[in-house]
Amino acid sequence: PSAQALPGVREQFPILRQHSGEQDLVFLDSAASTQQPTAVIDAVADYHRHRHANIHRAVYRLSQAATRDYEQARAIVAAFINAAEPESCLFTRGTTEAINLVAASWGRANLRPGDEIILTRLEHHSNIVPWQLVAEATGARIRVVPINALGELDLDAYRALLSPRTRLVAVNHVSNALGTINPIETLIAEAHAAGALVLIDGAQWIAHGRTDVQALDADFYAFSGHKLYGPTGIGVLYGKRHLLEAMPPYQGGGDMIERVSFAGTTYAGLPNRFEAGTPNISGAVGLGAAIDWLAALDLDRVGAYEQALLAYATERVEAISGVEIKGRAARKSGVISFVVTDPPVAALDVGTQLDLRGVCIRTGHHCCQPLMEDLGVAGTARMSLALYNTREDIDRFADSLAEIVDQARSDAAAKAERARDR
Ligand code: PMP
Repeated sequence: PSAQALPGVREQFPILRQHSGEQDLVFLDSAASTQQPTAVIDAVADYHRHRHANIHRAVYRLSQAATRDYEQARAIVAAFINAAEPESCLFTRGTTEAINLVAASWGRANLRPGDEIILTRLEHHSNIVPWQLVAEATGARIRVVPINALGELDLDAYRALLSPRTRLVAVNHVSNALGTINPIETLIAEAHAAGALVLIDGAQWIAHGRTDVQALDADFYAFSGHKLYGPTGIGVLYGKRHLLEAMPPYQGGGDMIERVSFAGTTYAGLPNRFEAGTPNISGAVGLGAAIDWLAALDLDRVGAYEQALLAYATERVEAISGVEIKGRAARKSGVISFVVTDPPVAALDVGTQLDLRGVCIRTGHHCCQPLMEDLGVAGTARMSLALYNTREDIDRFADSLAEIVDQARSDAAAKAERARDR
């Protein structure tokens, strides 16, 4: 595949036409949040203009139209990840809430002292802290899979951790900090062989390749709309029906009940039992529109294009002396995490300097402090790709980075000279 831009795609993102000084904005922080195409912005506006009302409860047609939109979005999500049925796809605020839902509901109902939950050093804080909370409450223990020097999971160590005590493995599909694509097919099969369930944090995969939760045999799969060209505040928890049906409610409130009385309340079936209160209806509409839009582009083609861009970007960054790439996994998604070591420039300064040149990247620990500990750094600078990026974006980024490193080098030389003169 070549790094020739996907025709007509970038033009559909109004925000990318925004200028920074003289030049177009170069947006390379899509692992944090992707931008939204006109199709999504318009679908949300259209919903607000013509069909907005609270769902599920009213007899009037407007409310029924909103309910149809909301449930249609659920059907789109289910088809996109090949869930067996829409009811096994719950809307949440995002990946974070999806993981918290499983930890609080499944975890508190099923974990006992001495049970083990396996996580990995690559996890985002949102796939660590909810498990720590439930471990504290239940007496379960957390075990952690280490990584190798390339930033890949150590599979032998994983196998050694699996035991009859393992109740659940929670792992990301793709690491947000390094881009490592984890061999989740293998991880899931081996966890199942040990009698454990598996939750996949799909936040960083979902927009970059096909997902088939049934083929994967994932027990739970979580992702966020805002990393999938959709709005913020909406995400999905997929779960196998028999697991979700056996789980106690996560939050109580309207819409999640069958009948309420002070003598005792009974709960609604799936998916309503886990969607207490008025949900993010327009968010669901936007997510459905984003998926329709993306699926029409063909995710295999999108993935191949992003891989070609990643290869080009890697080559450009490698050519800048003094810059070190963190994370060298054999299978990587469109993320380059790096540090400037010679001369040392703090990630924050790299990010600020790039911003002055109209280039948006992320700096810091990326909500992965245990991983940063392994890498021996407080943080990294991270550029991440999406389907609207182009070779020109990479050139602007790499040229700017080279300039920043050069500047730091001449500043360091001038400083050394002044020190000598004194
Ligand atoms: N997991 C991973 C791997 C992520 O990259 C992110 C977002 N940075 C999350 C979970 C959390 O997603 P959200 O903030 O949308 O809940």
